Amino acid sequence: MQNVHSKKWIDPEKDDRIKERKEIEFQHEIQLAKNIREANKIAREMGFQADYSGIDIRAANEWNVGLYNAKRDFPEVTKKIKFVGSSQKRNHLIRKAATKYYYESLISNGYPKKEAESASKKLGRKIIGNVNSNEMASSIGLESIKGLPLGLKEAVSQYVGITMNDKYFDNYGRVIENGLRQVKSKWHPEGCFNVKATFDHEFAHQIDEHLEVGKNKTIQKIFEDRTNEKITHDLCRYAWDNDNPKKYSEMIAEGWSEYCNSKKPREMATIIGEEIIKLWKKKNF
Ligand SMILES: [Zn+2]
Repeated sequence: MQNVHSKKWIDPEKDDRIKERKEIEFQHEIQLAKNIREANKIAREMGFQADYSGIDIRAANEWNVGLYNAKRDFPEVTKKIKFVGSSQKRNHLIRKAATKYYYESLISNGYPKKEAESASKKLGRKIIGNVNSNEMASSIGLESIKGLPLGLKEAVSQYVGITMNDKYFDNYGRVIENGLRQVKSKWHPEGCFNVKATFDHEFAHQIDEHLEVGKNKTIQKIFEDRTNEKITHDLCRYAWDNDNPKKYSEMIAEGWSEYCNSKKPREMATIIGEEIIKLWKKKNF
């Protein structure tokens, strides 16, 4: 529990000093950017390619704070993240890299330039299209590109990571308003209304891939023991009502997000959170 103090012995002057010191400590840990250029720079200094164009600066800062904490707590997982920022920018870069790969292979196979140009553009778009309008944020891991031909995989792999839809995260106030509504309707778990909660959800997908959390029997059991209605009640609806082909993925991500963001994580979130930490320690200590 951080920063809990009872009202009865508050000393305003002393508390102000504490607040001031806390802010300074935070500044030392990670500097908050005043604009997108600075936010990109801060992410780059942490070792990521970054393009937060179109994102509200407060959302970009929360994403960077999430990355900073993730790097400290799960360094091996964070190493697999290459790109952060806007999903639109990421998709554009992946498409560009794929198109270039196809163009070069077609040319080396004797295709005329013009044909190679239009064919490679089409193939590039097949690799990744536009960002879905109902997608808030997304995580692309190395796992999801492992079936691609070697050269293409290499080109695309520099852009795997976690990103935000810039049509959604361009307005911080709206993000919070929508977030609170989604928590209230049990679409997302308790406490998971802000940008950090979305970051933790997406980062959980990366943890899941690294530790194969979905293969864990305890994790599977908390899903299988419950009806969909019960999962909605005990965690949230999105934990089962989604089109992710990996069955337990969204439950794991939502559970981790509640574990990290709720003041009082409930049973499902607690089991998921503790199981992830156990798996992490088993692999790393
Ligand atoms: Zn997800």
